[in-house]
Amino acid sequence: MSEHRNPGSGAARVGQVKEVTSLSNPVIKDIRALSMKKHRDETGTFLAEGLKLVIDAIDLGWAIRTLIYAKNQRGKSQVEKIAALTVARGGLVLEVSEKVLTAITRRDNPQAVIAVFDQKLAPLSGIKPAKDDTWIALDRVRDPGNLGTVIRTADAAGASGVILIGDTVDPFSMETVRATMGSVFAVPLVRATEAEFLSWSKKSSAMVVGSHLKGSVDYRTITYKGNPVVLLMGNEQQGLPDTLAGACGELARIPQTGRADSLNLAIATGVMLFEARRHLLSLDESHP
Ligand code: SAM
Repeated sequence: MSEHRNPGSGAARVGQVKEVTSLSNPVIKDIRALSMKKHRDETGTFLAEGLKLVIDAIDLGWAIRTLIYAKNQRGKSQVEKIAALTVARGGLVLEVSEKVLTAITRRDNPQAVIAVFDQKLAPLSGIKPAKDDTWIALDRVRDPGNLGTVIRTADAAGASGVILIGDTVDPFSMETVRATMGSVFAVPLVRATEAEFLSWSKKSSAMVVGSHLKGSVDYRTITYKGNPVVLLMGNEQQGLPDTLAGACGELARIPQTGRADSLNLAIATGVMLFEARRHLLSLDESHP
């Protein structure tokens, strides 16, 4: 965590940390309800689990609305620092029993630290891809694990963000957030209807490369260098519809052999993305 405040030997605690052990506490009921999309949509918030994720979020400038930690974390310096920071920024801090954490996360052996954050979605109209920018656009992605993996992969490859087209799974569901391993805080997310995406892509300077099982171009032969690029990926079951495929400057295929008729969406995105950004990626001592 880069931003530290001295908690003043538990200064955040005095009157500011609420101890909660009851599942019928109304604040806990509200937090538990965040497992439902309806409640996430209504409140515009979501849950992230794990000390590392919460520290990553703070480092990236996200503010915690509610911090929840297990009683046995009391006095741990990182947790105290996060608690003090949360209080200083007007957030709520709850110290809870294992039973409460299990109920919130719906998991045995829950993480000892979880937090509620405000959702962030960027408007498509504000996205103006520049040279060397690579955006990923996903059409109606259905699987939370796939979406989380794509967001994590986008982060690793230095993509600019992920555009979610049409009726997609919620990027702020607990399953998706878990699968991002913290990248949900680092990668800008955009939501758009198909019509909005089509109109935006017409006006945009970006080269839209559709990833398609019937693509006529080998994905390795496209000149990505020097162009802003949008990699457009199809739905898990149906692939890209003709409307979106027709908007692509290139329709690229990843050559396959063997019996599998297609690649998993997140794998195909990874293969396309690392090729599109190959000229920008080099081994660097500061990374594994
Ligand atoms: N039955 C679907 C179809 O007919 O397209 C399969 C969809 S596949 C599971 C999900 C997405 O991953 C595809 O829409 C495409 O964007 C990408 N994809 C998977 N395998 C690919 C390949 N060999 N070449 C190009 N794109 C691929």
